[in-house]
Amino acid sequence: MQHAIPGDGPSAALSIALIELRDIRKRYGGGDSPAVEVLRGVSLSIQEGEFVAIVGASGSGKSTLMHILGCLDRPSSGEYLYAGRDVAELDPDALAWLRREAFGFVFQGYHLIPTESALENVAMPAVYAGLPAAQRESRATRLLTRLGLAQRLDHRPNQLSGGQQQRVAIARALMNGGRIILADEPTGALDTRSGAEVMALLEELASQGHTIILITHDRTVAQKARRIIDIRDGQIVADTGGPQPISCGNATDSPRLLLEGMAQGVARTASVWSDIIQAARAAWRVMWINRFRTSLTLLGIIIGVASVIVMLAIGHGTRERVVAQMGAFGSNLLYISSVGISSRVPGRSITLADLEAMGEVPNIAFVLPNSTGNKVVRFGSNDVQTYIRGTGAALPHIQTWPLARGTFFSEADDRQMAAVAVLGHVAAQKLMPGIDDPLGRYVLIENVPFLVIGVMSEKGALTGDRDEDDLVIVPFSTAGVRIFGQREPTYTVLAVADVGQIDATQQAVEDLMLKRHGIKDFRSSNAAASLAAQVRTQDSMTVMLAMIATISLLVGGIGVMNVMLMTVKERTREIGIRMATGARQRDILRQFLTESTLVSVVGGVAGVVIGLLVGFTLIVWDVPILFSLTAIAGAFSCSVATGLVFGFMPARQAAGLDPVVALSGE
Ligand code: ADP
Ligand code: MG
Repeated sequence: MQHAIPGDGPSAALSIALIELRDIRKRYGGGDSPAVEVLRGVSLSIQEGEFVAIVGASGSGKSTLMHILGCLDRPSSGEYLYAGRDVAELDPDALAWLRREAFGFVFQGYHLIPTESALENVAMPAVYAGLPAAQRESRATRLLTRLGLAQRLDHRPNQLSGGQQQRVAIARALMNGGRIILADEPTGALDTRSGAEVMALLEELASQGHTIILITHDRTVAQKARRIIDIRDGQIVADTGGPQPISCGNATDSPRLLLEGMAQGVARTASVWSDIIQAARAAWRVMWINRFRTSLTLLGIIIGVASVIVMLAIGHGTRERVVAQMGAFGSNLLYISSVGISSRVPGRSITLADLEAMGEVPNIAFVLPNSTGNKVVRFGSNDVQTYIRGTGAALPHIQTWPLARGTFFSEADDRQMAAVAVLGHVAAQKLMPGIDDPLGRYVLIENVPFLVIGVMSEKGALTGDRDEDDLVIVPFSTAGVRIFGQREPTYTVLAVADVGQIDATQQAVEDLMLKRHGIKDFRSSNAAASLAAQVRTQDSMTVMLAMIATISLLVGGIGVMNVMLMTVKERTREIGIRMATGARQRDILRQFLTESTLVSVVGGVAGVVIGLLVGFTLIVWDVPILFSLTAIAGAFSCSVATGLVFGFMPARQAAGLDPVVALSGE
């Protein structure tokens, strides 16, 4: 037999066979199991436009040969030249391209994708060829109409008879042109009449110039072909035709011309977006068909996302509540007191002049000096040890501490060192048990009678182990002169106007005092700092809650992986069909990744909705809830990422399947 050598001149092109097999061998097994040689040196040449039948008994190696011819499988040894090009040199993407551009497969078992309609099954090869959706649909519709299935476009395979399914499969084989139709026992599963119809179709296609390779064990079926090749035990034993170039019909461009488009076709990257939409649509259908299983899987993700949202909302809500409560108790206050290292007055280094200077610092709204100490207070014959606080008239306002009855003293009282007192709630009870109205009565402090003009409302708080309601409040100057004999304050409260600037203001006060005193004989603190500590505790709680929620998201991800692995197992056959119709590994990878991502997107959306619902329900029960958009977006993107990450392994497993192995899989 003469073989043209590729590329040795234009005249050589004429004699190049479409398909050329040289001493093809295929062995199975080896290693543990004994090796079986299924094809034992098959050499064969097929020209464009031939109608060839390969006949042989069951087990003679016909299907194996067809898989090799269709580039679904590689021979163990020997050469396969397609239009003069050695197929062994092609990478998986190029093989996928060749399968979808050159071949159309028709199988005994139809091999349609059960979840897709007739139209979608037919259109599938064009999806991988990158044809726009509208063109795909019109071409698939035309093909199905031509094959008498115009009324069955939207039927799924299980709604069609065997003959109809096989016609759908033939339409699919023609979708990308069907230059070479490889039909493996196409009538094997059909009744006589449907079988005859299918054979008539193949004959018609052959007369239109398609190259047909028909594989059958049935000699009468084989008679329809123009050339019959007999195969027995993996060897060709007879060949009626021999190479007989046929140039009738409307055979498209020559095989070589097809190969010229290969580099470009293989590299096709356009329309990724429409691929994804297509994959998402297919994924959605699969999810819908398995909706019970899918929703069980989704439970993990839904719970994860919902709990992240709710936990963080509770965390933020609680934090906000803490801040609000602290705000009521003076988050705008600075405290400054002396430290006993002054050479002048130990423990009383801050002077009244210092207070005035502090009042001038920007952002200081109030200066409230305090002289404090424990003293015995007498009412009638009742002696009570209590806490005396000499302070300014602004105290109820600054510390948001209203009176229960009577009035607070005024600035005038303070200036005039008036002997007036306001009793704390507990002090009033201790001093005057059984007396309804303490107002207008006198108490003795250091033998000075003080007129009671008011009673503070109950604070109900403790400072250390001292009850904050157990005190007697008097004007600052009165306390200094008439009780403690000491005009300098024990400590001073500074209220700032803008809480946001409180740290800067504290610094400014410290700088001022340092300048005035030359040494740091004072100490300042601010309530916002203790608030910040509280908030930090709350925040670490929130982080912990969020971590727990994240773990459930992780568990959800494992669920997704599990269901995807199952899906890949169940749909091995489908993966094989897709590969046979030209899907590249990356198309399969993308499809399964899209599927797992879609699963988790649906889970994420459901999780967000449920999280919000639970949150709003909790608000009704007065649980502090503050939804955070960041948390919602974060949880959602985590779930999507979960789908991508955990879907990757199953998707790669699917993409890595060998086409023949996948096709024969369950
Ligand atoms: P035919 O299609 O002519 O009935 P096949 O090509 O399907 O025959 O199979 C030919 C022989 O190869 C059979 O004996 C079969 O058992 C064997 N065979 C096919 N596929 C495999 C495989 N994957 N591993 C081992 N043996 C195989
Ligand atoms: Mg077979």
